[in-house]
Amino acid sequence: MHAPVLVINCGSSSIKYALVSDSPDTPRLAGLAERLGSPGARLRGTDSGGETFTRSLPEADPATALEAILGCLEGQHPVAVGHRIVHGGERFTRAVLIDDDVVAAIEATEALAPLHNPANLEGVKATRALFPDLPQVAVFDTAFHQSLPPHAYRYALPEALYRDHGIRRYGFHGTSHAHVSARADALAGIQGGWLTAHLGNGCSTCAVWQGKSRDTSMGLTPLEGLVMGTRSGDVDPGLHAHLARQLGWTLAEIDRVLNRDSGLLGLSGLSNDMRTLEQAAAEGHAGAALAIEVFCYRVAKSLAALSCALPRLDGIVFTGGIGENAPRVRERVVAALPHFGLVLDTATNAATAHGREGRIDAGGPQLWVIPTDEEGRIALETRQLIEERHA
Ligand code: ADP
Repeated sequence: MHAPVLVINCGSSSIKYALVSDSPDTPRLAGLAERLGSPGARLRGTDSGGETFTRSLPEADPATALEAILGCLEGQHPVAVGHRIVHGGERFTRAVLIDDDVVAAIEATEALAPLHNPANLEGVKATRALFPDLPQVAVFDTAFHQSLPPHAYRYALPEALYRDHGIRRYGFHGTSHAHVSARADALAGIQGGWLTAHLGNGCSTCAVWQGKSRDTSMGLTPLEGLVMGTRSGDVDPGLHAHLARQLGWTLAEIDRVLNRDSGLLGLSGLSNDMRTLEQAAAEGHAGAALAIEVFCYRVAKSLAALSCALPRLDGIVFTGGIGENAPRVRERVVAALPHFGLVLDTATNAATAHGREGRIDAGGPQLWVIPTDEEGRIALETRQLIEERHA
């Protein structure tokens, strides 16, 4: 494998890994250590022959899990490690080489991502201890959106909240929006104006003009914006006070309901999974049908709003588990934007799923399905940084 980069995404109870070569045709060694910290912790992955394997992880802290992951790399030696870091605050506008100073700066943004950044950093620390001589790079979900202009990132709140506490819109899913918009540029042969819709368990939209994010639907936290699997997306900001006053809910309860019990799951009363909902809706489940309807309308509404950030609209790109695999959702989103002049090619749309890339319009602004590749993007940014250092 040529100059492979090890990509690590360390969460609170899982570590995703992928060994990514610089040749797109080389299969990746990839997998997931999960249920860390609980009984039944295990490592699942794919080897170079495409076979899957599962191993149990007896002492399942991140360091032990990372050692087990190293054992699955089949003797390949990464040239660098790229870490996914959720929040880079305002300091990190691109990927950076990790040193003690960068670790301290990521620690300083902990208040903005209390669930994610500490877990990401545990992975960084354990990996640095295992590979003290290997360059390690932090790639931030927020960095791609640091090009937002102030009118897109400021909330209409007292200035001191921004100045003293960093309360502003940051945006997330940056590696995904960066990857699919760059791919759309390459496929269309232009530096375009794209609206990208990352629709997975987490969902966000982004307006990208000539390779730069100009606005995005997520904000201070990944809760803002679209309806997601279990997250509510936008609600009236007065809702929190209302729930506290009228129902006596604590902050923790409000947080839990908006993040874990809402979205597709809350609306349908059935599931956060689009496949289950499509099936149930087809069988007459009213909640599932409503959940899909609200989901699609909100995607369209968000795309229409974000179109204000583009001087010209060249097209829309769908990605993420739903964006890549649910033709009916794409059809509904397109139908909910009648004034955009979109013309869907229904046959190509129906045939484009399961990791296939394709153009699905029959005229008007372009419509693309482009599989996301967050690991590939993290590896690319890591490699670019290492090459710059050696130039
Ligand atoms: P994550 O954000 O966790 O990475 P994914 O991008 O894998 O999640 O997206 C998960 C979502 O994609 C789920 O709602 C799942 O139902 C949906 N999905 C995956 N395959 C299909 C399919 N064939 N049809 C409809 N939805 C699908």
